[in-house]
Amino acid sequence: MKVLIVHAHPEPQSFTAALRDQAVATLEAQGHEVQVSDLYKMNWNPVASDADFSNRENPEYLVYALEQRLGVKSQSLAADIQAELDKLLWADLLILNFPIFWFSTPAMLKGWIDRVLVSGICYGGKRFYDQGGLAGKKALVTVTLGGREHMFGEGAIHGPLEDMLRPILRGTLAYVGFDVLEPFVAWHVPYISEEARQQFLVDYGQRLQHLSDDQPLVFPKLSQFDDKLYPLTTNT
Ligand SMILES: Cc1cc2nc3c(=O)[nH]c(=O)nc-3n(C[C@H](O)[C@H](O)[C@H](O)COP(=O)(O)OP(=O)(O)OC[C@H]3O[C@@H](n4cnc5c(N)ncnc54)[C@H](O)[C@@H]3O)c2cc1C
Repeated sequence: MKVLIVHAHPEPQSFTAALRDQAVATLEAQGHEVQVSDLYKMNWNPVASDADFSNRENPEYLVYALEQRLGVKSQSLAADIQAELDKLLWADLLILNFPIFWFSTPAMLKGWIDRVLVSGICYGGKRFYDQGGLAGKKALVTVTLGGREHMFGEGAIHGPLEDMLRPILRGTLAYVGFDVLEPFVAWHVPYISEEARQQFLVDYGQRLQHLSDDQPLVFPKLSQFDDKLYPLTTNT
């Protein structure tokens, strides 16, 4: 299996980086090929802008997704986007590895998503959910949090974890066609003991060794909707 790990943490020695390293070591030991995009180390530009397109369809008014489509067709996307897109298309499994910032991804990773998941390849027209351009690939979200496990769930102070992660799990990864696996979560990371953190690394290694057993989360299929995308039956 070919694996792309997109890692976003500003501190090279962070615990989140230790999870990245655990993933690389575990997956390579199993014979998988791994590439890492370490976004802060790469000084990744997270800002979607007109500079992403050298050959504009409409130089007067920027419609970002339409320019992405032309950029794909004319192979004129910015070089940093194209390099990440090539890695993404190479991979069978994408791992997004990051600390939760404000119930979300760090801006650095959000900017990778905005710029790399291009219209014309990853989605566009009726290419989404099970018909998304990246269908057939798997995705795993690996997150660290300050919050404790009991703070998440039905009736818990922050509500269900799946609600917090909905923009990334559903609105992004499932939308572009990935089979999205149950996230791996390291809770309360800065406040627990060294041993408890080590245990997360062990648990993560074990999870990665058995990833092929994981059943993906359930998301809509376009066949459950009519041609105007009204539900044919009761859907989520
Ligand atoms: C802007 C911002 C917004 C945030 N929003 C949220 C939010 O909405 N919800 C929420 O729950 N949290 C939030 N947080 C908290 C954040 O998610 C956590 O602080 C972060 O996930 C902790 O992981 P880390 O990798 O940064 O830990 P680090 O701070 O890098 O590490 C924690 C400890 O682990 C140690 N460590 C490093 N490597 C290892 C290793 N190999 N083995 C054992 N120990 C090791 C480090 O030395 C350190 O003592 C936010 C933080 C910021 C900055």
